[in-house]
Amino acid sequence: MATNVRTTPAGKKLVTVIPGDGIGPEVVESAQQIIEATGVPIEWEERHAGASIFKQGLPSGVPPETIESIRKTRVVLKGPLETPVGFGEKSANVTLRKLFETYANIRPVRELPGVKTRYSGEGIDLVVVRENVEDLYAGIEHMQTPGVAQCLKLISRKGCEKIVRLGFEFARSEGRQRVHCATKSNIMKLTEGMLKRTFEAIAPEYPDIESNHIIVDNCAHQLVKKPSQFDVIITTNMNGDIISDLTSGLVGGLGFAPSANIGNDVAIYEAVHGSAPKYAGKDVINPTAVVLTAVMMLRHLGEFGAAERIEHAVLVTLESGIRTRDISGDEGATGTKAYTAAIIGNLGKTSATWTVREYRPLQLPRVSAAPDFVKAEERRVVGVDVFIESASDAETIGHGLEQVVSNTPLELKMIGNRGTKVYEPTGAITDVVDQWVARFVQRDVAGNLPDSTLLTLLDKISREHRWSHVEKLQEFDGEQGFTRAQGED
Ligand code: NAP
Repeated sequence: MATNVRTTPAGKKLVTVIPGDGIGPEVVESAQQIIEATGVPIEWEERHAGASIFKQGLPSGVPPETIESIRKTRVVLKGPLETPVGFGEKSANVTLRKLFETYANIRPVRELPGVKTRYSGEGIDLVVVRENVEDLYAGIEHMQTPGVAQCLKLISRKGCEKIVRLGFEFARSEGRQRVHCATKSNIMKLTEGMLKRTFEAIAPEYPDIESNHIIVDNCAHQLVKKPSQFDVIITTNMNGDIISDLTSGLVGGLGFAPSANIGNDVAIYEAVHGSAPKYAGKDVINPTAVVLTAVMMLRHLGEFGAAERIEHAVLVTLESGIRTRDISGDEGATGTKAYTAAIIGNLGKTSATWTVREYRPLQLPRVSAAPDFVKAEERRVVGVDVFIESASDAETIGHGLEQVVSNTPLELKMIGNRGTKVYEPTGAITDVVDQWVARFVQRDVAGNLPDSTLLTLLDKISREHRWSHVEKLQEFDGEQGFTRAQGED
């Protein structure tokens, strides 16, 4: 894949290895043993993150020596990490992905000849390309009132452009023909819609690849009904997390689902699955997901021959009837260690039913690093949403706020509660909570609202209510930069 490969003076390839939590050490060790058996010269730098680090009192779960090692090696093989209850707030996984801007999460699944599922024979061979650092998983959360929580879904045009271009480049690197973009743009027109619009703008640059947009819930439905219609699916962070667990299930479960987190500088390889703590240390877990993850890593390191040999050895092992507990059940199951030994014993053998793809190096898209990636020629503030806390009712709050803005440049356009207009009354029957949004717009429809007017408004509102959050209503190049509430005209 990318070219960021560092070597020791003796010519060994440098890789940071993080064994991780729960089943992590067992599955990562399995992958390391198999790689070592191929003879690929790798210098492993073992570092730690996750539960053990949280328990030492480091709230990020990622210590400086781990960051330093990744800065040096640029390539990581990682086991799953846990955030133990009561320690730390943020997932160490997400922290690692974000610290090193691994903006793309590539999650391939392919029908494995030796693994019988209800889709066997369908020829499933698809990849979820998931945006990996934005969206709800940025984890920007606030309690707005004691009983109302908020998570900000931030989606940038730059982030969309990077993931869309990478999705198409990835398709080309693997000779894939079709790319779907899966979004919830019918509901979240600005955020999810930004990915859809970016996809539609960029797709014509890749005329050799068929491009389609699909609503993400239908994508889930179609994946279950006819998964073979998909080749590459580009999607936002949370959608991709859910969809890719679903696609893992189609080919035999999380024990078979590898993944790579790719950025311009660093690549972090890890299975889709988590630490499955109930199986830790029991020698029962399926290491195939991490072994196939290691295969992806070897290609990144330029070790195409070893990658192919491991891929075939896994297939020959499965075809020979050797099964871990997740697919065979307890009866006749092979343990993790014996399964690993069987793969090592099959290195050099070729599966008659498996074709290894033709891989070309992935061209990472070069997207401008400028923070102001999109510039507007014209912009103006047309109003403001003020989020207030009140245990009162819509009528009382509404009448009070009408008074607040009488004889000012602003008028109260509406009051909403959890996204639905409740004032002036619409005649609907809406349950309410103690967080309200009061939408104020300018009386002069062509004006540009100065901050001084907003600050005066906030000062007046705070005499009556607690306010927790303010959002300017903006227009960029004549385009409205906000959505209406349900029921708002
Ligand atoms: P999980 O660890 O992926 O396990 C869910 C279930 O998937 C397991 O109970 C098991 O199913 C099956 N499974 C997972 N890995 C398997 C393997 N290698 N072989 C066979 N079966 C496997 O998900 P979770 O229980 O939701 O999460 C546990 C912890 O992992 C949490 O702390 C979570 O935050 C963390 N996590 C970390 C990462 C990461 O580091 N990238 C990702 C996801 C979750 P059965 O019960 O049916 O046997």
